[in-house]
This record gives sequence, C-alpha cells and structure tokens, in this order.
Amino acid sequence: MKFEDYRIADGIKTSISKLGFKKPTDIQYKAIPPILKGEDVLAIAQTGTGKTAAFAIPILHILQERKIKGRADGIKCLVMAPTHELALQIDSVFKSLANHTRITTFCIHGGVDQEPQIAQLNEGVDILIATPGRMFDLVSQGALLLKRVEILILDEADHMLDLGFIKDINDLMRHLPRKRQTLFFSATINEKIKNLAYSLVTNAIRIQISPKDPVAKNIEHAVATVKMDDKRFFLEYLIKDHPEKKILIFVRTKVRAERVKKALERVDISTDTIHSDKLQKDRELIMQNFRSGDLKILIATDVSARGIDIPNVEYVVNYDLPESSEQYVHRVGRTGRANQRGQAVSFCSDEEQELLKEIEENLGKPIMRIEISKNDYQSTVNFTEDKTHNWKTIMKEAEEGEEIRKKKRKKRRPKK
Ligand code: ADP
Ligand code: MG
Repeated sequence: MKFEDYRIADGIKTSISKLGFKKPTDIQYKAIPPILKGEDVLAIAQTGTGKTAAFAIPILHILQERKIKGRADGIKCLVMAPTHELALQIDSVFKSLANHTRITTFCIHGGVDQEPQIAQLNEGVDILIATPGRMFDLVSQGALLLKRVEILILDEADHMLDLGFIKDINDLMRHLPRKRQTLFFSATINEKIKNLAYSLVTNAIRIQISPKDPVAKNIEHAVATVKMDDKRFFLEYLIKDHPEKKILIFVRTKVRAERVKKALERVDISTDTIHSDKLQKDRELIMQNFRSGDLKILIATDVSARGIDIPNVEYVVNYDLPESSEQYVHRVGRTGRANQRGQAVSFCSDEEQELLKEIEENLGKPIMRIEISKNDYQSTVNFTEDKTHNWKTIMKEAEEGEEIRKKKRKKRRPKK
C-alpha cells in the first residue's frame, strides 16, 4: 500500500511525498487506520521505525477534518515527551506534515522564557507538544487550558508512565476531559507499565511489531570487555579508526561526560557534551551541529537516549553500560534509523559484568562478544597519543573536585 491510497487530506499527502516517504513503515501501516477510527492505541515498535509519523499523520487528518474555519478554540491534541530535544523534534515532524493544512502546532518546554510561549498559546494552537514541567507551570498560572483536548499522546510511553513522570501524568489526567482518544507509543514496555497503560484507556488496541528482538534489525551491536581505566584508550582507537564518522557516546553521569571530553581533547579529538546541566540554548546548538555533521563526536548522558532522530549516526558507543535493558535498546537505537544500518559497541568493565548479565536476561538473548586478544588489547592501550599518561591523576583530580563541590553545596543548604 502506498500513502496515495490512504483516505487522508491531500495537503498531508503532499507533505508526505515532500519528505520522501513512499510507503508506510510497518507500524504506520498498522497504526494509522485504528487511529483514524478514533480508537485508543498502544503501539510498540522498534527504534527508528517511524512511530512519530504513525501518530502525526492520522492526527493531522482528524483535526483538519474537524476544524471549523478560522476558529481557534483551544488545544485539541496534546503530545507529551520526556525531553526538550525530543519535544522539539516531534514538533518539527508535525510542522513539516502540517505545512499544507490549517492546523497549527507549538512546542513548550522549560529552560527558556515563558512569556513568548504564553503569547503563542493566546494566538491559538491546535496541537501542543510539551514536556511535563513547563506545561504544569503554565496550567497552574491559568495560561494553558486543557479542557478541550480530544487526543492525548504519550511518546516514549513506558518512560512517561514510569516513576519519574507518573505523578505528573496522573495530575495531567485530572485536567483533561474524560472522553478522549489516548495513544501510547514506544520501542519498549514491560508488563507492569503495560498494565498501568491499559488502566488509563478504554479498550485499547495493542499493536506490537517484532517483539522477540527489541533491538532494531538494522543495528549490529556487540560488547567488549575493557577495564574501567582503559576505556578511554579503546574509545580513542575506535574514533581514530573511523575518521569522519558520526559517533554518539553514552556515559553514566554528567561528570563523566565532561571527563571523557577532556581526555579526548588531550589526544586532539574534538567533541562536545550534552546533559541536563547545560543551558537550553547550548543544548539546542550542540544538537544542531551534530545533526548537520559539523560536530562529529557527541558525548551524552541518557537525556539523549530516547527518541532523538539524527541522520547518519554510524556508531553508538556505550562507554558505560546503561542501567537497564530498556535504556540499552534506546541508546543503541540512535543509530540504524529508518533504512540505514548502524553499529553499536558497549565497553563492559569487570564491575559491570553483573549489569550486563541482567541486561541480556531482559533482552531475552545474549549480546555478541568482541573477543580481544592480549596482544591487541595491549597495542590498543599503547596506541594512545596521550604521551603524558597521567590519566589516573586527572580522574583523581576530577573526583576530588566533585567532592569539594558537593561539600560546598551542602554548606550552602540552609539549616532546618
Ligand atoms: P521512531 O519514533 O520509531 O524511533 P522516527 O519517527 O523518529 O522513529 O523516524 C525515524 C526516521 O524514519 C525519521 O528520520 C523519519 O523521517 C523516517 N521515516 C518515517 N516514516 C518513513 C517512511 N514511511 N518512509 C521512509 N522514512 C520514514
Ligand atoms: Mg520516536
């Protein structure tokens, strides 16, 4: 089936063809008809398989059909996403599909001035894409009304329904009309969250594509055993072995992100970092540079693990293992988007072996091993262009710095 054969507004078809989409992906093929019919949908499909358009296309059509000309009477569809970057990305997909419709879309997230957001909301918005924090600020100030919302979407739904966000989502439900269409999309979901999701909807249709292997099929992923202190040598080697490639590196903490950046600078590899301590405008600039390819190597925490769609990321490196199998699936899923192929490698230290075992158990299959011979291991460690070899001193300094900062923070905290 081609997009031309769908019963959706011509303007949307024009935009689809401008995006270069010829036929729907599996999840689009399965999800678009029930969404058009107004059903609640829980859709699970691997990373990079076009879930955004799978909800954006039918929603735009529904709202375009329902819209009374020239009347701006409140938000009709609310899309919730976990991070600023993802919310902005979803908004840009909606915008490019809505080009030839009368539907307006807008994105609100924290970290920026709220006045322009309020002004835009007053002008009238049909589809709002939001992260929870700023949305509730605006709701509590009375600047944002949600009582006309007809469709609610949770992207990265399992994450949105998990501990960190569930209170927000429950609060949100109280502001929304009871009668509405609810859609959940993600690449991963566990039993507990699935039950929670079902409790929030009426008669949801469940669509699941290739559930046996949660990692997308065009991603080749493997794990190598590397000592904690040697990880940076292997990273240096890998980057220098793949010049010109776009590589995304995941680390466990913000401090480690900065540390790895420094270590790479010492061997003349220029990189940047993205994490929640950075200013919003810097985060956006870094993403833009990575998207355009001006920046080739990006070091990220898990804030960038979910949903982010950057073209041509050829390699994902788990410098540190992720905390869960879900995080693993999402991190490696930043490569191998749409029809592209991708590679991912995880560095696993002795301390992380237990974690690896747990991840593999939850994935339901072992991850391929890269066996490194003693000789190769040693020559990789010797390969480094960091002639000072005082990496351990740097690590120690960084850790001490962190301790001092912690103490200062404690001092500053007022006594109860
Ligand atoms: P997911 O949310 O499933 O991880 P995205 O919605 O971010 O995936 O889409 C991944 C990539 O696939 C995007 O770059 C998008 O432009 C592309 N894409 C989506 N639908 C199609 C299609 N029908 N044909 C070709 N490419 C598509
Ligand atoms: Mg997505």
